[in-house]
Amino acid sequence: MSLKARIAALIEAQGPMSVAHFMTIALLDPKDGYYATRDPFGAGGDFVTAPEVSQMFGEMLGLWVLQAWADQGCPKNPRLVELGPGRGTLMVDMLRAASVEPDFIADLDVVLVEASPVLQALQAEKLRGCGADVSWQAQFDNSLSDRPLFLVANEFFDALPVRQYVRTPRGWNERMVTTLDGELNFTLAPVPVPLPAIPASREAAPEGGVYEHSPAALALAEDIAGIIAARGGAALIIDYGYDAITGFAETLQAVGGHRFVDALDTPGEDDLSAHVDFVALAQAGRRGGACVSGPVTQGAFLATIGLVERAEQLMKSHPESAKDILSATERLIGAPQMGTLFKALAFTPPSVTDVAGFAA
Ligand code: SAH
Repeated sequence: MSLKARIAALIEAQGPMSVAHFMTIALLDPKDGYYATRDPFGAGGDFVTAPEVSQMFGEMLGLWVLQAWADQGCPKNPRLVELGPGRGTLMVDMLRAASVEPDFIADLDVVLVEASPVLQALQAEKLRGCGADVSWQAQFDNSLSDRPLFLVANEFFDALPVRQYVRTPRGWNERMVTTLDGELNFTLAPVPVPLPAIPASREAAPEGGVYEHSPAALALAEDIAGIIAARGGAALIIDYGYDAITGFAETLQAVGGHRFVDALDTPGEDDLSAHVDFVALAQAGRRGGACVSGPVTQGAFLATIGLVERAEQLMKSHPESAKDILSATERLIGAPQMGTLFKALAFTPPSVTDVAGFAA
């Protein structure tokens, strides 16, 4: 039975499901979920992420982590966690750059949080012989709270499930996935949600306006911030998303073969994601007790921590690749590409307020 047919059967048995529930199944179903069954990255896949654009991205992030560690007095037994490591490229590039500081690497515990067994295997292959002590977990949990936590998440939070609420004359009604003539369809829950569920900042929404909310993302951000506040460390979250409310449109999107497709058509075949609400993520970080820096644009962040200088240095030592290095730099920091749509946000302990890449 196809994943779509299984979802339809579940809805017929139990009633309409939230958009968040649908996203979770479509992305992570152990048998047919999108991430559970494939390597979606790169030119032959569905999308290209920053670490796959250039090794410079991971190198700069590795140096950022090193700087945060040094700023906090080089704590013993640091742990480096990556959420959703994809092909493992970012971690390999970070570790290579961070190896300039043997004391950091010496007692470093590396943990990759990855739900997909297919991608875990790919990451293990990539990290073989990297010299660090690496282990895997399917999800972030409290076992990661006993050491200073250095954490990086690139294009991870956009994959976390969102619930959607639509403004109606009766209030806000949750958008659900249901079945109609054997197809999957969106519908609205008949009863509006109780109002405290919707922030006051959304009051101005016109009828039909959408509010997206990711309880999973916010709970995770708060947990991470809490560990960093208590144990030390730093988190860097990079993703595409918004740092202000500029409208009330939905951002849930489905991408297959580098093209936008219908989210309900072929669940498990396409990547589903939603823009990250950086305002809510920053609030969650503060609730967890961390100092929150940003959001700033990815372009500003990377330029401030020295990506352009690194590119110039690489172009000098590899003149034959100068054109590629230049176009990768443009792609990472240029406004029309990843530079402005993508944002960076950092959590540090409350005592650490001057964070590299984020103007004070
Ligand atoms: N960071 C990588 C990959 C981004 S794609 C890069 O920049 O190239 C999202 C990654 O998160 C994939 O590795 C996917 O399998 C993983 N993932 C998605 N949802 C997850 C979840 N709920 N728990 C753990 N891993 C998840």
